[in-house]
Amino acid sequence: MYQSFIGLEVHIHLLTKTKVFCACRSAFGDEPNTNICPVCMGYPGVLPALNIESMRMGCMVARSLSCTIPRETWFERKQYFYPDMTKNYQISQFASPLGQAGWIDIEGRGREKPIKKRVRIKECHLEEDAGKMIHTGTVSLLDYNRAGVSLLEIVTEPDMETGEEAELFIQQLRRLVRYLGVCDGNMEEGSLRADANVSINLPGRGLGKKVEIKNLNSSRFVRLGLDYEIRRQAQFLDEGKEVVQETRLWNENRDRTEPMRTKENAQDYRYFPEPDLPVFTPDAAFLKSVEDALVELPLARFKRFMDEYGLTEEQADQLCEEKALSDYFEAAVRAAFKEGLAKHDAAERIANWLLGDIKHILGREGIPVNAIASFRLGPGRLASLVVMIAAGKISGKNAKQTVEAVIKEDKDPQSIVGERGWEQLNDPKLIAEAALAAFAGEADTVNTLRALIANPDNAKEKRRRALTAYLVGKVLAATGGRADPRIAGAQVEELLRR
Ligand code: ADP
Ligand code: ZN
Ligand code: MG
Repeated sequence: MYQSFIGLEVHIHLLTKTKVFCACRSAFGDEPNTNICPVCMGYPGVLPALNIESMRMGCMVARSLSCTIPRETWFERKQYFYPDMTKNYQISQFASPLGQAGWIDIEGRGREKPIKKRVRIKECHLEEDAGKMIHTGTVSLLDYNRAGVSLLEIVTEPDMETGEEAELFIQQLRRLVRYLGVCDGNMEEGSLRADANVSINLPGRGLGKKVEIKNLNSSRFVRLGLDYEIRRQAQFLDEGKEVVQETRLWNENRDRTEPMRTKENAQDYRYFPEPDLPVFTPDAAFLKSVEDALVELPLARFKRFMDEYGLTEEQADQLCEEKALSDYFEAAVRAAFKEGLAKHDAAERIANWLLGDIKHILGREGIPVNAIASFRLGPGRLASLVVMIAAGKISGKNAKQTVEAVIKEDKDPQSIVGERGWEQLNDPKLIAEAALAAFAGEADTVNTLRALIANPDNAKEKRRRALTAYLVGKVLAATGGRADPRIAGAQVEELLRR
């Protein structure tokens, strides 16, 4: 009965080698206070210099979110005091964010009904991160390694309505920035953090008084926190009370939001243009380098995989989870197609290998899925293997052994199969010979079977099948496991009826 409005502010750490305004290393997990210098420590008299890679990566995200990059973009000082920010101001963007007025489509299955929605992006702006405070007992420690790390803030319009939509937005954005290679998307380490803003109101009355839930470090908490907050605010309105505009925190141990502070306004920060940094005017070469670095977006690729390759939603989703995996998949399908396999057949076989055995092996070998490009069984090799299987040249069991050998010896599947003599036997004449030999050693079984065939008896059908399978097994064994089981089966049936 109430309408709800959700807007997200997502902060992502950009994967630049150095910080945004100085040459310090930008890395997670280093010894505290080793990646610092007078600039990121805010010493008087030092001058910041813009890291162009931060600007480029920020613009890549902006363009992937269909934002416009303005002709001129600059920085402001956002002033506030905080122990993890030694300058007492943060260099950020206010009046001319690097990305403006964009959108992203989110789509997913949803718990109750499918979600399909366009979320408008208000802006993307570049800023520096603050240091990290670690509170232990009665002391607070400060690690400034993170101070000055490139941070891109992505701000949406309040276009989402449920916790679930916001969760999906975060998941899709996370996939997008990982596809672009500009952020590792690690929410636990804080490389991607979200503040969620939410208000509710009677339908048609527009936005309500918003509450901001700060620093959500998992997409699940985004959903839980928002759903909780929507319920809490609805109860307030039901009771005729007013919602207070404030900042709250999600308490994951108690599954509820709790007040943190009443929200400050933009005026409180006294933004003014950063005098130590020139206005950035992207030139044609810069803009081209941004466009050249863009990639097919994960959602588009997911849909194309279903259309083009006939994959199921589940398969396409799993393959598109990592760009490297989806790239590998397409390269393998292309190679198998070149070797003569039909596209959908190749896709189905390769998807099954990738999502089954190969994912399992990667896990066993400790190779992250996004490093699959360095896996010894490359896309060309998997394609050859699949082509051999499709042509009946190799049995399923030997195919698995071939994969293991390729990984161990770093050789092509064809060489392995050749060296090991694993080529499947599918010459009916040779298999018939093996069958004859097997029959000679199994006279009793053969006689029993022939009697069962001569006098068909439904009650003994099960026994007939079991004995036949036993004989087929003997024939396979006689060929060292190389005979095509289907041909062996046919030969046995034929010999029995002779
Ligand atoms: P602030 O100045 O408080 O940071 P902004 O206008 O920059 O507010 O918006 C911050 C985020 O809050 C945006 O994602 C925006 O969509 C969202 N937002 C703003 N007003 C509301 C509201 N009344 N209800 C829900 N979300 C809102
Ligand atoms: Zn520094
Ligand atoms: Mg804001």
